[in-house]
Amino acid sequence: MTATTQTPGLHFTGIDMPSRADLLNCIHCGFCLPACPTYIATGQELESPRGRLHLISAVLDGRISATERVLGHLDLCLQCRACETACPSSVPYGRIMEDARAAILANPPAIQPRAWRGRALLLREVLARPRRLRAALALGRLYTRSGLQAFVRGPLGATLRHVLPPTLLRLESSAPVLDRAPFRATGLLSRPGLGSPTTRVALLLGCVQGEIYPQVHEATVRVLEHVGCAVVAPEGQGCCGALLTHAGDSETARALARRNIAAFERAGVEAVIVNAAGCGAAMKEYGRLLHHDRHWAERAERFSAGVRDVLEFVAARDFAGGLGRVERTVTLQDACHLAHAQGIREAPRTILEAIPGLRLVEMRTPDRCCGSGGLYSFVQPGMSAQILDAKMADIASTGAGVICTSNPGCAMQVEAGVRRGGLDAEVRHVIEILDEAVRAGR
Ligand code: SF4
Ligand code: SF4
Repeated sequence: MTATTQTPGLHFTGIDMPSRADLLNCIHCGFCLPACPTYIATGQELESPRGRLHLISAVLDGRISATERVLGHLDLCLQCRACETACPSSVPYGRIMEDARAAILANPPAIQPRAWRGRALLLREVLARPRRLRAALALGRLYTRSGLQAFVRGPLGATLRHVLPPTLLRLESSAPVLDRAPFRATGLLSRPGLGSPTTRVALLLGCVQGEIYPQVHEATVRVLEHVGCAVVAPEGQGCCGALLTHAGDSETARALARRNIAAFERAGVEAVIVNAAGCGAAMKEYGRLLHHDRHWAERAERFSAGVRDVLEFVAARDFAGGLGRVERTVTLQDACHLAHAQGIREAPRTILEAIPGLRLVEMRTPDRCCGSGGLYSFVQPGMSAQILDAKMADIASTGAGVICTSNPGCAMQVEAGVRRGGLDAEVRHVIEILDEAVRAGR
């Protein structure tokens, strides 16, 4: 690492420093600006990818310290990586931002920014701990099933909504409807008929997908069976660590990655299937996350090479035979971590367009972020709402009755937008619609 003179105050430190070589790839052309949701919303250079890269370079070179103002500009970034898609110089903005955040949180706890420390703590102590997460979601399930959620959201709850503190009201309005039993099955999940050719694959259960959208796992298993797979959910797997990496807690993310690699290796499968775009993107980058670790670097690279998003996996197989009709008008919201981080745009379209009776109506900017960004909607509620409003207007203009996406965070955010705007539409994972067609064809 090159020695630099740091100005006093918070600076970058630790093993996850942003790479100078990556930063030097930026030729300052500005092609990324019109793709960036926060630049579109503010028109400010410092809320653009180019501006943020400039700040990160200045902190790295010790020309400025990471003041509250500088961190504010980094914090307003959604980490949607639309700038990577737009960049002609292949600047790996996502990893530069992840490293910048990790290099801030590598400072001693006493000087870490409080909000950043608190966010990492929440993710580490709740999201990464299945028992605590399930206990928290059990309360949410009680809230839905008791009828209180419907009451608060209905016309009779208007007075209550008026007196709720803004933070609580925000939390309430974005809370999912938890009216289904969670999906927590492990072991062998599907058994294709005797004599049928099978590929053995493993499913990532993840931290929230099976708890909030269990029907997505159920549909995934049925569709994988349809394309000739035996599906297992290995014991010992857990949260993929994506949100911790985004928040800068790379140590916890590395611990979660090691646990998942070991669990999936034991399963001896041909592919690891992921139906949450954010998790898939993170798991495909375990090799990079663990590249400092000589015991795990090679294993992590090998593991990452076997990770597939479920849509990418299914679209590459013979999935279209025997599909029944699904008479729906559908629009597709590209999950940022599918389109921009994994470069997968065609697979969801190939699948939807193959379904008889289905009409796909594209919105104007399907690959623009919905404003979800993991915890972003709670941390930056104003910007998140502004971005969501633009997204909902785009969705409404398609007249679609189904909004398809491929990530639980996006689903929750768009569902909140549907409720807020009173839109007559439902939000579904692409795999659920394909599953509907598979079942209709039986
Ligand atoms: S990741 Fe998204 S919000 Fe952040 S700079 Fe890039 S385009 Fe803008
Ligand atoms: S498009 Fe790429 S090279 Fe151009 S300013 Fe943005 S990050 Fe830099």
